[in-house]
Amino acid sequence: MQQFPCPFCGLRNEQEFHFAGEAGKTRPDTMKEVSAEQWSAYLNHYNNPMGKTCEIWVHLPCQEYFVMQRDTVTMEVFASEQIRKDLK
Ligand SMILES: [Zn+2]
Repeated sequence: MQQFPCPFCGLRNEQEFHFAGEAGKTRPDTMKEVSAEQWSAYLNHYNNPMGKTCEIWVHLPCQEYFVMQRDTVTMEVFASEQIRKDLK
């Protein structure tokens, strides 16, 4: 079983984690009109890259969301870090 590093709890079994989305995806600006196609693209379309990727994951026991950089082919994890709330 693979282990993932939670930035708050350390290494834990992969079963304790859930994928939460692609990192860097921009939510549509709700102060402007947003079409159904734009919402659909934001909510449902994923790149699913082969190789290095940057993703948002949640560690269920601590309920913390974080960014994990990993390789989808080799399953190597390069980094996991807390989501910086000061970034916009
Ligand atoms: Zn945790």
